[in-house]
Amino acid sequence: MESINATHQLEMSRATPLTLREAIANLEERRERIPRGWRQPVEKLLIDLRSVAFTRGSQCIPTGPQDALRIDPFTQTAVKMGPVLDGIFRKARARCSSTCEECGRRGKGRQLGFKRSVLCPACFARHSIPRQARRTRFLVDAAKANERLVILEPEIPALIRHLLPVELWRTFRFQQPKNRPVITMRYVNTAELAEICPRLETLENKCQELVGKH
Ligand SMILES: [Zn+2]
Repeated sequence: MESINATHQLEMSRATPLTLREAIANLEERRERIPRGWRQPVEKLLIDLRSVAFTRGSQCIPTGPQDALRIDPFTQTAVKMGPVLDGIFRKARARCSSTCEECGRRGKGRQLGFKRSVLCPACFARHSIPRQARRTRFLVDAAKANERLVILEPEIPALIRHLLPVELWRTFRFQQPKNRPVITMRYVNTAELAEICPRLETLENKCQELVGKH
């Protein structure tokens, strides 16, 4: 679950760090906001955290404001990460990274546009097929109106991407300051899609059939 780590696991220090027990209470209060499919892994996390707080609580209470704290991705709560807690959170993240956020079945990290979610094949299809239909319609409309819109690769669902011939793709290179790597990203220009509109419309119709809209 790299994306969650990158987004939420910020190192920070607080003047009055939470004790582990306070952090657990915080997590319990916020559990309703956790995606439905992750409720079970989070309940397991709570059980593990409570057992640590109960048996080894004094070792896990932060000792001073200089302590490095982390924000737990589920709770947004600062807790000191001793090795025991580290292990508990690592296991919880591993469980969540293979559990569909929506239904709790086995899943994996999947890209929906710029957003990455852990989903099973059925939940992924429920989101991605209507999205493919909408995006296809958008591209066809733009192409027919001869609009020159730049559409970046992550904005194009996989099925559509496979229909776009290689010669339509352009590459955008962004030179970053200092020694940071150059960012390259592929894109297409909607004005150049006119020839493949019939194939895109076939794809849109198939997607509509799959979601039951005629
Ligand atoms: Zn699912």
